[in-house]
Amino acid sequence: MRVSKLFMATQREVPSDAEIPSHQLMLRAGLMRKVASGIYSFMPVGYKAYKNVERVVREEMDRAGAQELIMPAVLPAEVYQASGRWDKFGPEMFRLLDRGGRQFCLGPTHEEPFTEAVRDTIRSYKQLPVTLYQIQHKYRDEKRPRFGVMRAREFVMKDAYSFDADEAGLDESYNAMYKAYCKIFDRLGLDYIIVDADSGAMGGSGSQEFMVKSVVGEDAICYCTECSYAANEEKASTIPPEPAKDFEMKEVEKIHTPNVKTIEELMGFMNSEPANFAKTILYDIDGKIVAVMVRGDREINETKLGNLYDATEMNLAAFEDVERVTGAKVGFAGPVDLKEKVDLIVDPEVLAMENFIVGANETDYHFKNVNYGRDFEATKVADVRNVVEGDKCPKCGKPLAMCRGVEVGHIFKLGTKYSKALNCVYLDKDGKENPMIMGCYGIGVGRTLAAVIEQYNDEDGIKWPTEVAPYKVVVVPTKVVDEECMKLAEDIYNKLLDAGIEVLIDDRNERPGVKFKDSDLIGIPVRITVGRRASEGIVEVKYRQTGEQVELTADEAVKAAIEFR
Ligand code: ATP
Ligand code: MG
Repeated sequence: MRVSKLFMATQREVPSDAEIPSHQLMLRAGLMRKVASGIYSFMPVGYKAYKNVERVVREEMDRAGAQELIMPAVLPAEVYQASGRWDKFGPEMFRLLDRGGRQFCLGPTHEEPFTEAVRDTIRSYKQLPVTLYQIQHKYRDEKRPRFGVMRAREFVMKDAYSFDADEAGLDESYNAMYKAYCKIFDRLGLDYIIVDADSGAMGGSGSQEFMVKSVVGEDAICYCTECSYAANEEKASTIPPEPAKDFEMKEVEKIHTPNVKTIEELMGFMNSEPANFAKTILYDIDGKIVAVMVRGDREINETKLGNLYDATEMNLAAFEDVERVTGAKVGFAGPVDLKEKVDLIVDPEVLAMENFIVGANETDYHFKNVNYGRDFEATKVADVRNVVEGDKCPKCGKPLAMCRGVEVGHIFKLGTKYSKALNCVYLDKDGKENPMIMGCYGIGVGRTLAAVIEQYNDEDGIKWPTEVAPYKVVVVPTKVVDEECMKLAEDIYNKLLDAGIEVLIDDRNERPGVKFKDSDLIGIPVRITVGRRASEGIVEVKYRQTGEQVELTADEAVKAAIEFR
């Protein structure tokens, strides 16, 4: 491809609404254009890189025995009503009406249509297992679309679904996808970690996420510094401390604490520390008020809490509800006598506390020297907090560490949730009907592309790994008006084309500096500069990844570029 003809515009300035490097670079390198919030077009060069990711995904899915098909993005409401998800998706689902007033949506994920297709095609255990996939646009009206294609509202996902006769079969299908995902992300050059994920909301029996380590990641990941344990924050657990025993329980004191609004103010007032305070927070879980108690310096994990109640909708309780239940203004809720009125969920760490401070369920008052067992008891003791750095690994007891990650892939043992709801059954050896056992497996193609850039860039631009690079080589004649220089450049260019290499020739009548800046920004792995020593047949080869630079004969340069990995 000739750069003079290339439909592309690079820009020097950092776009103002792009917060993270990959988003900035994709716009600066002209790889994509914003059409609306969370909705992007890929330009030719960007689309090439995008298709490379897609190709790697497709090759590994095919190799794993999955079969590709394509479903529509526009789907009738009935498909999602049968599983109950038409309502459950809420505002994240893009909905539309046809001219006859019938309801449709733009598919946010395709468990239901795949389940229907398999239900209508497969009769017998002899036709199982089967894994199907598509690479297709998904639509989710995200609350906060951001970071470009990382969290978009229209995005491409590779979604696969496996159907098995039994649990052992599901394990095999799942493992095949697990291995394929490892190959995909290895080939793309990503530094990733596989974490245990929460599977509560989808009702399955196991799930793992492929996380690309990155400071810009929206997910918190917890991993063990000693063993292989890794989980995302929703799922991560820890060994709780032993419940306190054999200590002197002091007498409870009621303390007047007027005007304290924050935990810091309360601690200043009481001359204590957040670790000696247990906060009680009220939630509204599908209309039921529930009190939750964690140590003052901990955060409640709403996914863990929601899973205890199989929650659909969960919010902090309204002020009125807090006042009605506790008899006090917000900020003074406490556990004493609360269990009679609402469920009281207590984090196990609270059981290890001694003579601690809690709200008194009376405006402007707190209790001091409260103890679990003597002064209150839980409806249920359950892990409902976020783990923190230094907590004990649930597997080996060594300290846990935290980092941030971008979820690029997700594999999930669904079980029979959809097959039961949609009557996707098969006949076993005895002619008996059974629901199929399902798994689902997603990779965000655009998000993965952005994650690659996130891990491969410097101040000059993108540094594509070769597997993803839109072009592997750029040939840069420094003087296009110099015949000798241009002839050698064209010669190299044609040899690379003949060898089947994706190659650019920067035939623009521009200063070399401009060309170098653009090729660095776009991130082409190999640059062959034809300049000063063109008359001797000598060119300069520079590698974007390492910055290494060598002078070679034209033929050697062609060979080096072809062989470069
Ligand atoms: P997240 O927690 O980031 O919203 P999710 O759990 O909703 O992700 P899944 O439903 O498991 O994601 O979708 C599978 C894959 O699709 C994800 O691993 C991710 O790579 C991609 N993906 C999901 N939502 C988006 C989005 N809004 N924009 C781009 N890619 C997305
Ligand atoms: Mg999501």
